[in-house]
Amino acid sequence: MKTATGTTVIRNGQLILGTGAAAIPDGVVVVCDGRIDYAGPAQGAPAVAPERTIDARGGTVMPGLVEAHFHPTYFNVAALEDLDIKYPVEYVTLLAACNAKLALECGYTAARSGGSLFNIDVWLKKAIENDLAPGPRLAASGREICGVGGLMDWNPDFRKIGMEGLVLLVNGADEARAAVRRLVKDGVEWVKTYPTGDAAAPDTNDHHTLCMTFDEMHAVVATAHNHGLKVTGHCRATQGIKNALRAGYDCVEHGTFMDDEALDLLLRRDVPCVPALQFEWASVEYGPQFGMGQRVIDGHKETLEAGAESARRILRAGGRLGMGGDYGFAWTPHGTYAKELTFFVNSVGLSPLETIACATKTGAEIMGRGDEFGTLEPGKLADVLVVDGDVVKDIAVLEDRSRFLAVMQGGVVKAGRLAHQAG
Ligand SMILES: [Zn+2]
Repeated sequence: MKTATGTTVIRNGQLILGTGAAAIPDGVVVVCDGRIDYAGPAQGAPAVAPERTIDARGGTVMPGLVEAHFHPTYFNVAALEDLDIKYPVEYVTLLAACNAKLALECGYTAARSGGSLFNIDVWLKKAIENDLAPGPRLAASGREICGVGGLMDWNPDFRKIGMEGLVLLVNGADEARAAVRRLVKDGVEWVKTYPTGDAAAPDTNDHHTLCMTFDEMHAVVATAHNHGLKVTGHCRATQGIKNALRAGYDCVEHGTFMDDEALDLLLRRDVPCVPALQFEWASVEYGPQFGMGQRVIDGHKETLEAGAESARRILRAGGRLGMGGDYGFAWTPHGTYAKELTFFVNSVGLSPLETIACATKTGAEIMGRGDEFGTLEPGKLADVLVVDGDVVKDIAVLEDRSRFLAVMQGGVVKAGRLAHQAG
């Protein structure tokens, strides 16, 4: 991805560094050749002769957001079948490109895929890196791995539909190894697995069910780590979380039913967790109008309450949370990603600055790129948002993409009201 050339100064706004530190009331950011040279109080700013000045108009200047659980190929999903057989891969590829563009317009300058149909996110990432298509800097996951008969194996055999586009179904450690080896060839960075079920499948794979054995999970980790890939998994059931942490997972998605032992295992290796809670709230709230059964809704309610409690405990104990949320369902459409942040402030009890640090610094760390972006610090890529409004007072300002004056990647204004004048 190309970076800007020359010097840009952003002034006249409060500065949020993304480190969790208090906002700097009158801040200045100096960007030189796409990287941050200075980010701090206006009175300490170096004297430069910029090619370009951006007036934040008394709003907020902050790091670009990182969606830590992004499904670029999900689109208006209302039933499990919508995830695999609704559209042909050609159309889903185009939808994914649209979703990536939308995410960037919403202030998400980076995203980690939480799984994708076929290998679309791998190639989408290449297109974005080569400036062929706009979108967040991506970490790709490609197809997911799940045990046969588990959460992601929903098409009955009589339909004679394989699941090879969405998920690699495995029986035993050998097949788990073989699946990871296919993903290595595909070029993914993260291996996404399904250690547990979910409230969405109450009959055979509910949120207290295991969908992979420890042996399968351990084989996934050993093979992935050997090839330099990281491993994460959909972890709701307590035992599934523990299995993941003991098997050596690098991240835990959801981390819903976390007891003391699971929390201890998580903290000991400082493994980040991406709770994705707004989806649960929206499922409870809007489920009935999408024909969701009462058992499913009750399961989401239980998931929401336990998930919120686990998230609070993780952060209060010094652990790391990423902000991302499975957006792309009919009741959580693409473009509403920042509702996750509002939910964590209003309903989980995190402060706006804590939430923003999770959504920027921790997100970049989860992507393995914490030294490149995620905070406004000298030397980092200038992935910067200039927002019309005070996001500390009202985090929900970030939900409204018309409030972005500038969404910058590497110092280039890619979206926001100033994008047309950017040249
Ligand atoms: Zn997901």
